[in-house]
Amino acid sequence: MKSEKWIGAHVSAAGGVFNAPVNEYEIGGTALGLFTKNQRQWKAKPLSEDVIQQFKKECEKRGYHQGNILPHASYLINPGAPDKEKLEKSRAALLDEMQRCEQLGIGLLNFHPGSHLNQHTPEECLQVIADSINYVLFETKNVMAVLENTAGQGTNMGWHLDHLASIMDQVDDKSRVAVCIDTCHAHAAGYDLTTEAAYEQTMQEIMDTVGLDKLAGIHLNDAKADLGSRKDRHASIGEGTMGVLPFQLMMNDSRLDEIPMILETPQPEKWEQEIAWLKAQINT
Ligand SMILES: [Zn+2]
Ligand SMILES: [Zn+2]
Repeated sequence: MKSEKWIGAHVSAAGGVFNAPVNEYEIGGTALGLFTKNQRQWKAKPLSEDVIQQFKKECEKRGYHQGNILPHASYLINPGAPDKEKLEKSRAALLDEMQRCEQLGIGLLNFHPGSHLNQHTPEECLQVIADSINYVLFETKNVMAVLENTAGQGTNMGWHLDHLASIMDQVDDKSRVAVCIDTCHAHAAGYDLTTEAAYEQTMQEIMDTVGLDKLAGIHLNDAKADLGSRKDRHASIGEGTMGVLPFQLMMNDSRLDEIPMILETPQPEKWEQEIAWLKAQINT
C-alpha cells in the first residue's frame, strides 16, 4: 500500500503570510511550514481580514489544510521562564500566536517547551510550561499546542521524551496538546535513528513515552553535530552526521502517514531538491 506522506519546508512568509503557501507550492511541498509573524520580534501587527482571507484562499488552491500546516512560534518565547515578568510576556506572545493560527484556520502551533535558566528546577520548569499551555488552551478553541523536542542545549527542557510526557500529563485538556519530533534535535539529544535497529528502538521510545497518537508532526533535519552532542545545528539532508537512512526509513514508516513533515535545513536553495529526493524514497 502506498503511504501518504506530507512533506514540505519551513518557507518564507516575507511580504505577507499569504506568500508562504505560494512559496511552498513552488518547491513541491505537500505540507506547509511557516512563521505567522516575524520570529525575532515580540509584537506583531494584528492580521487584517483581507490578509486572513488571502491566506485561506492561497492554501485552499494548493491543498494546504488544517492537517498539513505546521507553523513555528517565535524563538523568543520561553513558556517555562522562571522570572514572572518574562513569563507573562511569553504567555501573552504564545497566546497571540495561537490566536493568529485560529484566525488563519490553522490547527497546530509548534513551539519549544522552554528553559529553566538555572533559576528554578527542571521539575518546576516543566510545571510552569504545562501551566502556560493550560493558559493558552483556555483562551482559544481550535488550535493544538505542539511541543517540539529540543537538542538540549544550555538549560533547554524538552530534549528528553520524558519531559514532553510530563508536560502533557500536567495539561488539563489532553485532546489539544501533542508533540513534534525534530530529527536533528533527537540525534543531538542522544536518540539514535541511524541504523534500522536504532530507528526502531527510538520509535518505540516515542510510542512508550508520548504515544503515537500524540505525534502531530516531524521536523526533517540532518545534524551537523554528533549523536548526544546536545548541540542544535541543522544540516541539509545527507550532508550531516545522520546519513540518509533515517530519512529513507521515515518515508516508508506508515506510523508517520498524514502528519506534516517539515524541512528546516539551512540551504533554502536545496529545499526543492530535498523534497523531491524524500518523495522518491517512498517505495511503491
Ligand atoms: Zn525543529
Ligand atoms: Zn533546531
